[in-house]
Amino acid sequence: MKTIKLSLLVILLFATFGILNAQNITILHTNDIHSRINGDGPQADYTPLIINNGSGVMGGFARLATLLKQQKAKNPDGTLILDAGDFFMGSLFNPSQPEPGFQLSLMKAMGFEFTTIGNHEFDYGPNALADDIIAAKKRGGLPQIISSNLVPVPNSPKDNKLAKLFEDKTILPYAIVNVKGIKIGIIGILGKDAADVAPLKAPVQVENQIKTVKRLAKMLKTKKHVDLVIVLSHSGVYPKGAFYYHSGLMTPEPANGNPDGKTGFYGEDVKLAKKVKDIDIIISAHTHVVVPRPFKVRNTLIVQTGAFLHYLGRLNIMVKDGKIAGYHYKLIPINDKIKGDEKINAEMNHYIKNVIDKKFLEPVHLNYREPIAETSFSLLKHNKNGYQDTDLGVFLADATRNYVDTDGGGTDVELLASGVVRDNILKGKTGVITVPDIFRIFPLGWGNDSLRGYPWPEYILQAMNLKTLWKCCCYQKAMTATFLFPGLKYITTLKKLCCEEFIKSS
Ligand SMILES: [Zn+2]
Repeated sequence: MKTIKLSLLVILLFATFGILNAQNITILHTNDIHSRINGDGPQADYTPLIINNGSGVMGGFARLATLLKQQKAKNPDGTLILDAGDFFMGSLFNPSQPEPGFQLSLMKAMGFEFTTIGNHEFDYGPNALADDIIAAKKRGGLPQIISSNLVPVPNSPKDNKLAKLFEDKTILPYAIVNVKGIKIGIIGILGKDAADVAPLKAPVQVENQIKTVKRLAKMLKTKKHVDLVIVLSHSGVYPKGAFYYHSGLMTPEPANGNPDGKTGFYGEDVKLAKKVKDIDIIISAHTHVVVPRPFKVRNTLIVQTGAFLHYLGRLNIMVKDGKIAGYHYKLIPINDKIKGDEKINAEMNHYIKNVIDKKFLEPVHLNYREPIAETSFSLLKHNKNGYQDTDLGVFLADATRNYVDTDGGGTDVELLASGVVRDNILKGKTGVITVPDIFRIFPLGWGNDSLRGYPWPEYILQAMNLKTLWKCCCYQKAMTATFLFPGLKYITTLKKLCCEEFIKSS
């Protein structure tokens, strides 16, 4: 009897010690915000201060601010707010113009502690990114940027400002933060695919992310004695099973695309977790995939919220003896059930009126709120399976062709790359389309005239080149629907066409 009592006491002591030793930590996370500061959807329908009015516009900083405040209040000393990059590019709020620093300083004000550099942060070049960071510092600060595998080239005029921010430790290769006595190491990386699709990052170099994380995670655990390592990974995962596209987000089908377990996802972040054992959590980004629940690869939990602030991820972990002993997760929709923060909303409206309208739109005789068109149906850039000949693709190809014919000297043939089409035209509640709704479709690029949008390149081709080009496009189109070309009909029986043929012949 005595022995049993003693054992019970020992168990109780262990249990008590265990509980005392455990800490509950909340990680709130976002990724791929893409400057959707004023909601993602028709701007005429965005009413963040009114709840439950059926507005389908998701996200927005005003609602996010409320949500972050509510969630943080549940665990005030134990909450970490993180973002995994591509915070820029995609709306008229894009902070590289007309006034830098606005978005990053707002993110700081809302409580974001750490973020990393995604591929779209380079869309106006490395020094424009540096200008944004410097301006945000002056406006009241910014989340700490962690960039572990980017290497600016010293003394190059193209990235000298960004290089200086690495030198003076404004941007850090890693950080250690203490949350309720738990030491957490934070790493931030740009993945291979993300690096490949950021040509304007040049001359900034990118180190292999697996090598970088292996080195840093080991150092953090063995030399700095952190309990946990979190990687803000702008690399991504894809669902293995069936998925569908909705508003640019790739979501696994609940019935088919079992997101749990070892077989639910593949991609660079899965590979990273397989190769590096010291990672506890990967906050994934870049692929715009909604991961409904965290999935585990070895001992690493991987999460991603999709994109455009449709969701906030909330990962509650119980940390015991330097390990995650349990977790609970929720993807919280950022929708019209949340009343937006009035102060943040007022800052939006002030910025629209005094900066976007005055400095950017009025010089070209436009206005943010002004309706410029109406639609009785939505035009989508993806169909269910991805890029195809969607109604929006064909409409934009026709519209740009018309522009070139009327204002650009005309052309015989036009190709529009589907990758430059970045958003849908949604009917919403009213069908009213405003300038920012159109801007979201073609937000990328800038020309020598410093106006936004890609320059329109002109090629003069001979008939033979054209034929080969078309073979190449048909092949590409069959594979990935890379190009949209208006008005052209073709019949092909060729099973395999080769692009090199075109490259060689021209
Ligand atoms: Zn993105």
